[in-house]
Amino acid sequence: MQGFNKYYPPDWDPSKGGLNKYQGKHALGDRARKIDKGILIVRFELPFNIWCGTCNNHIGMGVRYNAEKKKIGNYYSTPIYSFRCKCHLCDGWFEIQTDPKNTAYVVTEDTDKESGNAPPLDPLVALEKTTEAERLLNEVQKPRIESLQSVSEHYNADPYTLSTRVRKRFREDKKVEQKKRAADDTLKGRYGLPSELALVEDDDKAKEEAKEQWLKANQERALRESAKRRRISSEVISIPGSSSTSSSLSSSRATPKAGLSSASSKSNPLASLRARILQNTAAKHSSLAFGSISSGSSGLRKG
Ligand SMILES: [Zn+2]
Repeated sequence: MQGFNKYYPPDWDPSKGGLNKYQGKHALGDRARKIDKGILIVRFELPFNIWCGTCNNHIGMGVRYNAEKKKIGNYYSTPIYSFRCKCHLCDGWFEIQTDPKNTAYVVTEDTDKESGNAPPLDPLVALEKTTEAERLLNEVQKPRIESLQSVSEHYNADPYTLSTRVRKRFREDKKVEQKKRAADDTLKGRYGLPSELALVEDDDKAKEEAKEQWLKANQERALRESAKRRRISSEVISIPGSSSTSSSLSSSRATPKAGLSSASSKSNPLASLRARILQNTAAKHSSLAFGSISSGSSGLRKG
């Protein structure tokens, strides 16, 4: 194991050199196991399709091998490397070398075995590719660049006018915004709203929505009030069942059915009943009693 970490064993001292040297390991670890033969093991990716010379299988471009990299010479001062890979489909080996003269790779024979060969390049296919690329360049790319250039020239021709126009519009927008903010602030001040509260945009849609909400709330309130009136009226009708009206509100609420039945049984003297109610209630809760009696009479007519 090479010294990855900063741990130095207790029996190490600087005179023994670096940690790797002390442990007898190379800094590159197992990849340098053939370093004494000038071979370093690297990950090598095939730059083109090849056919293995041993098993005759096709091996696609981009397949990666743990190749033995070795310097085999120089082209002027540039080193030439060879990469020796073992075919993953058989036991054969093949070798690929760099070619600095043509900035390419060449497949070379292995020393004692058959090697893979570069795929035959169809000249017609190559020609087709070049004509296709040329057509794309002339019909798509050139017009595109020209149109982009003309657009760019159009916008860069008179920067002063464009800038003036933009700044004028910005100023107008700013004025509108300031006016709106002032109006909002006065509104918030008037109703004591928190200053960070965002107000809704004052447009037709918001108005419409507010109107709908208002109508809805109004209807709900009307329903609630009518329900309350009905309840009070039923209580008022139950009152004549008991003797004293003012003190028996809770008892009549507890037995509203008995009161109702008694009222229906004594429904004959309706006029005298109403007169009694008026007399009893008008004295104390004049406004409440008035409302309950008027609705109470309508309730009686319905019943
Ligand atoms: Zn093979």
